[in-house]
Amino acid sequence: MWGLNIKLKHKHCMWKCLNNSLPFKELIYMRIGKVYNICNDCGEDIETLEHMLFYCLEAQKVWKLAPIKWEGFENLQHNIWKWWQAVMTGTKEQATDHINLTVIILWKLWKARNKRIFEEETRDALKTVQKTQREWMEFDKANAEEGETCSSTHTVQQHQRKWERLKEGVIRINTDIAISAHMIRIGKGIIARNWTRKILRAMGLVEHKRGEASTEEALAVRAVLMMTKNAGWTKIDVQTNCKVVVDQIDASKTHEGHLATILEDIVELRTDFELCSSSFVHRTGNQCCHMLA
Ligand SMILES: [Zn+2]
Repeated sequence: MWGLNIKLKHKHCMWKCLNNSLPFKELIYMRIGKVYNICNDCGEDIETLEHMLFYCLEAQKVWKLAPIKWEGFENLQHNIWKWWQAVMTGTKEQATDHINLTVIILWKLWKARNKRIFEEETRDALKTVQKTQREWMEFDKANAEEGETCSSTHTVQQHQRKWERLKEGVIRINTDIAISAHMIRIGKGIIARNWTRKILRAMGLVEHKRGEASTEEALAVRAVLMMTKNAGWTKIDVQTNCKVVVDQIDASKTHEGHLATILEDIVELRTDFELCSSSFVHRTGNQCCHMLA
């Protein structure tokens, strides 16, 4: 957790969540017994850490609006440890962005709760989400700048995180998958940014099944095209770290093998876009600055 590439205050908050040391009401009640332990925001339940972060109506409003979703993790929300473990193992490398954003959301939920209690400020879920976005973007931008300097001190084998400038109006979508054979689980991460790097949408999806990497990557790309088509975006650039998929999509020949149907769907979907490019991004693309941090 300390290796995450985010601000110290965010890490610290996450650490406190996991170590049961954020002073939410139920905890104080258990320690000194002199507090009213019902949640101030909804008045409906005891304020436990999990209530505050996930179950409270106020928290749910935030998650609904948040650019990141952890679908398939709802059954773990009763235990922050289990939930966090699933988040950390369900996504890897490229998807560290998802994790960073998630930690910032948790931190914001805690801050908003405190403002409500101590400063009597009314909570506004939309504002909370917008602030989260802003906070994340600031940090992401600072990292990208750092990425440029770190290329000079590292060998070419370590591809630095590189953001090629996009033309106005183009949306870049990154996908990544993580397969855990041990847990029979496949995690997919999708993140869409516009040409100014603003995150438009981020998704984490978890399925409990066995899968094979290239098939799952191809399915992820197909999911991206369907998602963007529904969103009405017409100019996109899809980045994936599965070279097979990129090569096959670009070589617009007839497809063979077990990927054929998915790839044909992708080629078909592509024709609906004004611009649809795809490119390969190295799996270590995100890691250089991460290692320095
Ligand atoms: Zn509540």
